[in-house]
Amino acid sequence: MFQETEYDIIVIGGGHAGCESALASARLGLKTCLFTINIDSIGHMSCNPAIGGLAKGHIVREIDALGGEMAKVADKAGIQFRMLNLSKGPAVWALRSQADRGLYKLHMRKTLEQQANLTIKQSIVEKIIVEANQVKGVINNLNVFYGARAVIVTTGTFLKGLIHIGLERFSAGRAGEFASLGLSDSLAGIGLNLGRLKTGTPPRIDAKSIDFSQLEPQYGDDPPVPFSYSTEKITNPQLPCFITYTNSSVHVIIRANLDRSPLYGGVIKGIGPRYCPSIEDKVMKFQDKDRHQVFLEPEGLDTKEYYANGISTSLPYDVQLKIVRSITGLHSAEIMRPAYAIEYDFVFPTQLNHTLETKIVKGLYLAGQINGTSGYEEAGAQGLMAGINASLKILGKEPLILMRDEAYIGVLIDDLVTKGTNEPYRMFTSRAEYRLLLRHDNADDRLMKKGMQIGLLDRDVFEKYIDRYEKVHKEMMRLKNTRVFPSAEINEKLILINTSPIDEATTLEKLLKRPEIDYDFIENLSPQNLPKDIKDLVQINVKYEGYIKKQQELAHKMRSLEQKKIPNDFIYQGIPGLSREVVEKLTQVRPQNIGQASRIPGITPAALSIILVAVERYWREKSS
Ligand SMILES: Cc1cc2nc3c(=O)[nH]c(=O)nc-3n(C[C@H](O)[C@H](O)[C@H](O)COP(=O)(O)OP(=O)(O)OC[C@H]3O[C@@H](n4cnc5c(N)ncnc54)[C@H](O)[C@@H]3O)c2cc1C
Repeated sequence: MFQETEYDIIVIGGGHAGCESALASARLGLKTCLFTINIDSIGHMSCNPAIGGLAKGHIVREIDALGGEMAKVADKAGIQFRMLNLSKGPAVWALRSQADRGLYKLHMRKTLEQQANLTIKQSIVEKIIVEANQVKGVINNLNVFYGARAVIVTTGTFLKGLIHIGLERFSAGRAGEFASLGLSDSLAGIGLNLGRLKTGTPPRIDAKSIDFSQLEPQYGDDPPVPFSYSTEKITNPQLPCFITYTNSSVHVIIRANLDRSPLYGGVIKGIGPRYCPSIEDKVMKFQDKDRHQVFLEPEGLDTKEYYANGISTSLPYDVQLKIVRSITGLHSAEIMRPAYAIEYDFVFPTQLNHTLETKIVKGLYLAGQINGTSGYEEAGAQGLMAGINASLKILGKEPLILMRDEAYIGVLIDDLVTKGTNEPYRMFTSRAEYRLLLRHDNADDRLMKKGMQIGLLDRDVFEKYIDRYEKVHKEMMRLKNTRVFPSAEINEKLILINTSPIDEATTLEKLLKRPEIDYDFIENLSPQNLPKDIKDLVQINVKYEGYIKKQQELAHKMRSLEQKKIPNDFIYQGIPGLSREVVEKLTQVRPQNIGQASRIPGITPAALSIILVAVERYWREKSS
């Protein structure tokens, strides 16, 4: 066997997780190599050409605040930006962008290629080499060995990937790309427990064959708000999406062809994404609905391809064509790429620590879809954290573990390693207990200090953040200390917006707390000419102060449980009062502290008290 270069860190995969891992590790000064099956697919968006959305947009901002890349690339590739949910509370506002798929790949690859300490190799890794529970390197399909002190596996949907289009099936990592066939067995051989999942994608349609006159356009925000704190301005031309609907004819076609669906015929065994169902699933599960929305999303500035969001399917090609051509605006549509479903292997993520290092092999990290998640943002976040933690370990530093009250990334990783998953996991705002603390607008305040401490965040971005928050605090103090006095003029203004007049001197802060009053009103009374992001932050901080404080107190209480550490080798067997099921769960997850133990499904408050007493006794005996 030929032996090539030794690296500090090897990253397997050039998807959203792999790119963040490799950049983090190389930027922290470690000699890094990224292996990918096809260099031309680095940063490829396997499914919809969009970044962000509910909770996912929050994650993108968090990646940015820690010094990751996804937000910057999304801004360079963005062709439509929309702030979602503005009619609701600020905790669920979220940014979503359409991306030019080609530009996204181009910018991500360019960033990787220009990165010092980073080598890129097109090669299929077949084996992970482990000695005495420590990773030693990898062997590729050309039987070349590459040594490494840490290996991060980010292989997405490629492990034993099997594509289904109707009853046709073939091996592939995604359409047009080789599957990774050997690596699953190597991971299983190491002792990891693998399962099988499924996901799907809709057909892509030729714009020349779409009758846009029958469709409803949907435009983005003007001006577009970028994802990255370092982006000054979005410079790409902006494009609309178009809305259409399925109808009863489409539903009849689907029902008539269910026997040719691999999903319904039982051919597909992997569990699919509950929150991203195929059109056949939607039609069968929501029988009372006579139509489902279809978004036609442009794939880029220089292509005619449109992504038909909402009609992901694994039905055969002829049925796909019938479905598409029965939809308003698509009667003459040409399918450029057919829809398909894909089954793939994943690793049950309770086998990982919060650093994303496997519990059984030191130096082996897993990130992205291989851990059972679905989505670019979830993958990118894990990739970044695995890259950071693998690097910090090699550098002999403390790991970076984000708590559930600090970041959606903390919620994501804690959910995966504590609760596990047996279906594709995607992030929702409802998964976070402290969502008023985890807003997309304050990701900088939550995480930039950490990004700086680790050494990933640019100093000028950090300084801008400090400056921004100084302005926010100054303005909040001004509102606290500035009083307005009752007068006919001010009371007329207040009555005009249906809020009660004032009969005594009142601070601007108190006025802003009223539901009918927004910052624009205050500005009108007492002009300051502040940028919009600062005005928004001031308004949120003032209006939601009480709720924010409450969540901070709850988080603080939970932190005290997190501080009650459980030793790694703690033995649960034999503790009186714990059921066999509880013992099994605790032994499998090996929670690091009482807080984490409390989140394991099936651990009752009664079981938790027993564990707490047993752990306290353990520490007492140990210290005496
Ligand atoms: C058909 C389809 C439909 C999807 N639908 C949705 C959806 O509806 N919603 C959603 O949020 N997400 C969806 N996704 C998922 C989304 O694309 C992924 O979650 C995301 O891309 C995962 O990122 P990743 O970095 O983990 O893996 P990927 O982006 O899949 O990248 C994997 C990388 O690993 C490399 N690789 C694999 N094996 C090896 C090996 N042995 N050696 C070297 N390199 C290797 C590949 O070349 C590739 O670069 C879909 C994906 C597919 C394929």
